Amino acid sequence: MEIVQIAVLSDNYIYLAHDGDETVVIDPAVAEPVLAAAAARGWTITQILNTHWHPDHTGGNAAIKAATGCRITGPAGEAAKIPGIDRAVAEGDAVQIASAAGRVIDVPGHTAGHNAYYFAGAGDDGAGVLFCGDTLFALGCGRLFEGTPAQMNASLAKLMALPDDTLVYCAHEYTQSNARFAVTVEPGNADLASRVVDIDVARAAGKPTVPSTIGLERATNPFTRAASVAEFATRRAAKDAFR
Ligand code: ZN
Ligand code: FE
Repeated sequence: MEIVQIAVLSDNYIYLAHDGDETVVIDPAVAEPVLAAAAARGWTITQILNTHWHPDHTGGNAAIKAATGCRITGPAGEAAKIPGIDRAVAEGDAVQIASAAGRVIDVPGHTAGHNAYYFAGAGDDGAGVLFCGDTLFALGCGRLFEGTPAQMNASLAKLMALPDDTLVYCAHEYTQSNARFAVTVEPGNADLASRVVDIDVARAAGKPTVPSTIGLERATNPFTRAASVAEFATRRAAKDAFR
């Protein structure tokens, strides 16, 4: 599938995933730039996939549906809070973008019903594609608004079980601030140190640091590398207080 990354608001990413005659929007915070990006490519939006109910992931639902008649798929655990939802999905349910077959992974923690969507083999060179909303970020993870450290730790472990080359399309460009915290947790991690250089180069050039990969997160993300729930909880609390 072809993936277009649309930067909106202060640090959100919306994605267009296009395959065959289908175009799916993932987490439309807003409508206008999404409709414009699709129109510029001659694509017709057929579906919206929401990872969770927060307005910076669903705010464009109603206007995009009104403009295109697309169907909206979102998490069963928060269906009542997803504007315009047509189909509620949960762990193991199939999602499809034309010929690309995906599945739902339940990843509670940031919100109680948060979904990730995984499309095996759908990326360039046959890599998998993961849309993980606000669960896993480049060098970070989502804040625990509705879940426990144990839930988020288990959710991250499920994502870390995906193949190393899986492309991680998260919903925010938080990487540079995550990096400042990560180096305080693992000052001796050489993979992390070299990644931080790459991140600073990319941001100085105005480029995104997303997508990353599961392998890179496994090697460098302090939240995926906690040895226990207690250690994860300590790191998450420290990041919440970090400035
Ligand atoms: Zn959120
Ligand atoms: Fe968000």
